[in-house]
Amino acid sequence: VKDVPEKISRVAVSCGTHGNELTGVYLYEKWRRSERALRVSGIEPLVLLANPKAVSLGRRYVDRDLNRCFLTGELRDPERESYEGNRAQVINNALGPKWDPGFDFVIDLHTTTANMGTCLIFNEADKLATRAAVHLQREDSSITCSTYGGTGEFAYLPEVSKSGITIEIGPIPQGVVRAKILSRTEELVHKLLTFLSEYRKGLTTIPSGRLEVYRFDGTIAFVEQRETEGKTFIHPERDGRDYEKLERGDPLLIDLDGEVLAYEEDESSWPIFINEAAYYEKNIAMVLTQKHELSWGE
Ligand SMILES: [Zn+2]
Repeated sequence: VKDVPEKISRVAVSCGTHGNELTGVYLYEKWRRSERALRVSGIEPLVLLANPKAVSLGRRYVDRDLNRCFLTGELRDPERESYEGNRAQVINNALGPKWDPGFDFVIDLHTTTANMGTCLIFNEADKLATRAAVHLQREDSSITCSTYGGTGEFAYLPEVSKSGITIEIGPIPQGVVRAKILSRTEELVHKLLTFLSEYRKGLTTIPSGRLEVYRFDGTIAFVEQRETEGKTFIHPERDGRDYEKLERGDPLLIDLDGEVLAYEEDESSWPIFINEAAYYEKNIAMVLTQKHELSWGE
């Protein structure tokens, strides 16, 4: 369990972790011009362009996905050769190191092509992130929360600091800026920083709480083991329906001949990242989650 840091002072905002998610890239440009744009009482966040080469190329990454490069073994590996491997080490040196973090909180900015609205993603064991999410969701019930957790280590960027949250907003195509999503992201960053500032001063306490979360629980591949080897894509009845319950027999994918592939598990699921463009190369059609409630302090 990641305890709440005793004091919260060192906070970073990571932009352009994926070079073709322009919301963060444009916000970086904006915040860079006015150094104090993000300052709140007691906190002056470091604003970071995480993957400058991918940003200049307009691509998600150069060699590999930066947001999967933060495992301890790789961060300690002196022989890393990929561009993102090196960037991960630079970021780990600046914000971490992961095994003894210098930074208290990292906000990582992302967008998705999936119909996910405003989603906060964080480690279930991260108490401060959980409280921040509760606080934001109390003000705005349209925010959803998704978590990862359990045993093992995670390779996401915010894991290098003591605590952190990923802001994921969609739908928006890759390589596109939309004013509404830009201002929505900026609003959430301000709200998070204000929460951290108030929490730090003891003005905001959340002694007990409950939070409904969608916990990562596997993926659905486009090409399952089946007799025909043609391409499949998201079934029209499922496309765009992130967070909606999926039950055995529900149509999931369809192929070019119109053959429907249904969900075959007995256990229900709540898919997210449905039709995320970046996952096509990984053969991932959607991410499965389990919906459950985090509760504490009672
Ligand atoms: Zn991203």
